[in-house]
Amino acid sequence: MNMSLKHATPLLQVRDLAKRYGRRIGCEHIDFDLYPGEVLCIVGESGSGKSTLLNTLAFQLRPDEGSVRYDLKDRGATDLATLTDAQLRELWRTDWGFVRQNPRDGLRMRVSAGANIGERLMAVGQRHYGDIRDTALAWLNKVEIDASRLDDAPTAFSGGMQQRLQIARNLVTQPRLVFMDEPTAGLDVSVQARFLDLLRSLVAELGLAVILVTHDLAVARLLAHRLIVMRQGRIVETGLTDQVLDDPQHPYTQLLVSSVLAA
Ligand code: ADP
Ligand code: MG
Repeated sequence: MNMSLKHATPLLQVRDLAKRYGRRIGCEHIDFDLYPGEVLCIVGESGSGKSTLLNTLAFQLRPDEGSVRYDLKDRGATDLATLTDAQLRELWRTDWGFVRQNPRDGLRMRVSAGANIGERLMAVGQRHYGDIRDTALAWLNKVEIDASRLDDAPTAFSGGMQQRLQIARNLVTQPRLVFMDEPTAGLDVSVQARFLDLLRSLVAELGLAVILVTHDLAVARLLAHRLIVMRQGRIVETGLTDQVLDDPQHPYTQLLVSSVLAA
């Protein structure tokens, strides 16, 4: 991380966050800061609490303890618990993106690809049909979907195209923070590498802050500046990506890294 970032205001400040399902722990004792433009990967095996944490950070699940403060454009660092539901929805539609593992959960499957992108532009106040259409076409091009598919619904797309459309829908408004939950997990291995390259270049081009959940350390290696390693709902290790993967300190991280090497 650039030293100057240490003096910048964090985009997100997470303190002692916990989410439980009855007596079962989803995640707990979660503390970290995220800076503008930083790509943070949350890694860990299935059931370690990654999705719970991601959804709680985005306030799609309400925390049981602790706080998430976000640097709102107009008011600075604000505890998300103080926002109304309408203000949260506004945040989700404009300043944030959320890319789901299953495109069906992140796209409107029955409306056209163009409308999936255009809807986000309208949410940030664009009204001019020709401009919206032009921007949608430019974004289809960016995510390598042919312009001729603009009026097709995503039901007619391959899984890889659907996931690329979901990326376009979520990045078109240049949000400051994008959450992604296993965006590559549903893709054929044959299309994963190209998708990851595309994702990496878009994130760098737009200077986005991203919190990405993955069980795949190769994905984390390629995309992340920094890693959080989770086990049984808690952070067991955190640090710069190369540091954690090349010289893991916690026995659990060592096991994760070595099982990838052995695979
Ligand atoms: P991951 O995304 O790392 O696979 P999850 O966040 O989905 O992990 O799950 C963390 C823990 O919380 C697991 O023990 C899981 O069984 C539990 N859990 C997740 N969602 C629910 C739910 N809706 N109700 C009850 N328990 C849940
Ligand atoms: Mg999950």
